[in-house]
Amino acid sequence: MRIAVVGAGIIGVTSAYELAAAGHEVTVFEQGGSIAAEASFAHAGLDGAGCAVAWSPLAVAGGVLGLALRGRLPAALAPSLNPGSTRWKLKWLRANRGAAQRELHQRQHRLAAYSRACTTELTQSLHLDFERSSGVTVVSRSAADSQRLLGALAVLDQIGVRHKRLTADECRSLEPGLNPQAALHAAVHLPDEGAGNSREFAHLIKQHAQRQGVRFVFSAQVIAIQPGAQPELTVTQGTQRARENFDAVVLCTGLASRRLLAPLGLTLPLIGVSGVSVTAPLRLDEIHPHLGPASVLLDPRRGASIVRAGNRLRVSGGARIGAMSRAQEVAALKPLYRTLNEWFPGAARTAQAQQWQGASPTLPDGLPILGRSGLDGVWLNLGHGSVGWTVSCGGARVLAALIAGITPEIDTAGLGIDRFR
Ligand SMILES: Cc1cc2nc3c(=O)[nH]c(=O)nc-3n(C[C@H](O)[C@H](O)[C@H](O)COP(=O)(O)OP(=O)(O)OC[C@H]3O[C@@H](n4cnc5c(N)ncnc54)[C@H](O)[C@@H]3O)c2cc1C
Repeated sequence: MRIAVVGAGIIGVTSAYELAAAGHEVTVFEQGGSIAAEASFAHAGLDGAGCAVAWSPLAVAGGVLGLALRGRLPAALAPSLNPGSTRWKLKWLRANRGAAQRELHQRQHRLAAYSRACTTELTQSLHLDFERSSGVTVVSRSAADSQRLLGALAVLDQIGVRHKRLTADECRSLEPGLNPQAALHAAVHLPDEGAGNSREFAHLIKQHAQRQGVRFVFSAQVIAIQPGAQPELTVTQGTQRARENFDAVVLCTGLASRRLLAPLGLTLPLIGVSGVSVTAPLRLDEIHPHLGPASVLLDPRRGASIVRAGNRLRVSGGARIGAMSRAQEVAALKPLYRTLNEWFPGAARTAQAQQWQGASPTLPDGLPILGRSGLDGVWLNLGHGSVGWTVSCGGARVLAALIAGITPEIDTAGLGIDRFR
């Protein structure tokens, strides 16, 4: 089949690769000048099912959200909520109640675990060399924090994610760079989780996709889709406008999907959940060889992760429902520097830090839409929320199977568009 993939974030690139590997002739249209330049650019890079389910930014923000909607929000937290999106928040709360939430956790875990296996298989078979850290340590600062962690541990038990509770001393021996003065009560270690540089991964996968014949067209914005047996795309590139037909079109357009689908009568409850990150070179010091994190440190109290990425570290956090103004971005960055300074003071050359703001394309139940759109010839792989990288390789393989008419290797219940009809 001749297939067009629209969007070259981590989702579009992995989809293009899997479709080409399945024997299709693939063209990727990307409005920007390179791949992985939007939401997939400088996010935290966590790639495990447990973190995705128990400590996703939205799950943490959810506590705040629930309080807000019940009118019990502490005034200091109010700015993290965008009043314009109340309907979406209500949908989110409804999807995340009781037994329904447990079902969502199982589905997310199934997709994330499958995806991790696919990523590992690709990494080995294609000899991909990219920045990775293995093991996640979730810290608690006080007995009350440790008590609060119990809820998350119950979720890990439910979905079957391996974890080990650590004393403060055990935690320090896993993460010897930790500030000896930092308030550390206890920790939980997730040995099968970790983080990886998804942008670097995307560039490597793009090269392999190109070897399989995938054509990438940059600065090419798809402005209209005509569904049909041979769906047609209208694409602008500079001053040129062209129409092209394919056998199938796959939308991997993240947040922009709403704009493309609305004229076709498809209105999705897709919203951006904004966050920020700071990436800085580690201070390499022979006298103190353990400066900085050994792997991944998660601080749920601050809603922040600190990840080692080769000779750099990345601190990431924030979960604002809706867009972030420049002032809000500055306000969201401050606690990241503070958290870094609390756990790993002096470990990074923050004067050379690169700051980033991104928005995860998020649906109220936190799962992506994967499969048919209901419009002839148009397929969807979008709305991955805070786990786009985590589920990218598995989701792309599921999509390729669905397009080929083959039963995917995992149960895809709850991933279709029917749940929003
Ligand atoms: C602060 C933060 C931390 C995060 N941490 C994690 C994490 O630890 N682990 C994890 O798994 N995920 C994480 N995420 C989520 C992750 O970043 C996203 O889920 C993922 O990047 C979404 O990928 P995407 O390819 O769907 O979207 P994008 O990367 O945004 O790609 C969409 C692409 O489509 C292109 N496009 C759109 N419209 C058109 C058009 N009309 N024509 C042509 N091209 C078009 C865009 O230019 C863009 O390149 C985080 C996100 C944020 C903001």
